[in-house]
Amino acid sequence: MKKIVVATKNKGKIREMMDAFHGIDVELVPLSDFGELPDAVEDGETFDDNAVIKAKFYMERTGIAALADDSGLEVDAIGGAPGVHSARFAGGHADDTANNEKLLSELKRVGAEMSKAAYRCSLAFVDTDGGTILAHGSCEGIIRPVPKGSGGFGYDPYFYIDDEKTMAELTLAEKDKISHRGEALREMASKLSAYIAKR
Ligand code: IMP
Repeated sequence: MKKIVVATKNKGKIREMMDAFHGIDVELVPLSDFGELPDAVEDGETFDDNAVIKAKFYMERTGIAALADDSGLEVDAIGGAPGVHSARFAGGHADDTANNEKLLSELKRVGAEMSKAAYRCSLAFVDTDGGTILAHGSCEGIIRPVPKGSGGFGYDPYFYIDDEKTMAELTLAEKDKISHRGEALREMASKLSAYIAKR
């Protein structure tokens, strides 16, 4: 069984990956099994760059294959921002509330009442020989300055998946079916399963 370290400290993401890879001959190992490890510097220009940077960084430090994701929100009216800067849109230690306030103020600044937007996710698997597999997912919606719902995280209360509902009003299972991360995980599960079968 192939051991893969999941390059995240987020327990929710590890659980999601375990669900998605159920039935594939892999053992997912949390980063915490390797003691205190430094954070990777995510200074790539794209989600792909950052996912590969993280996976490669932790593969090199743990000596086993690694899987990492990078995701974010692209809002059309503000030129695709916050993009790879989604987690820290409002500054270094920004939380979800500060990031959402910044998003609304940026929309106001350009005179947009609402905007088309998309969540994007890149997943990277990097093996010990450097072999790399990428998978992608996206989810389109509209950002409106009217928050609704208490589920999800990040920009979800402002991300409308249709005329009425925001991402924050979905159950976890509903979100997984349509989300950028759900789509990327399903693609990675199928690519990884084929990769492992060939070895
Ligand atoms: P990371 O991929 O964990 O670095 O997440 C990047 C940032 O993108 C998060 O901190 C959120 O601000 C945003 N983001 C990514 N996925 C979602 C989502 O499903 N809902 C809301 N915000 C998200």
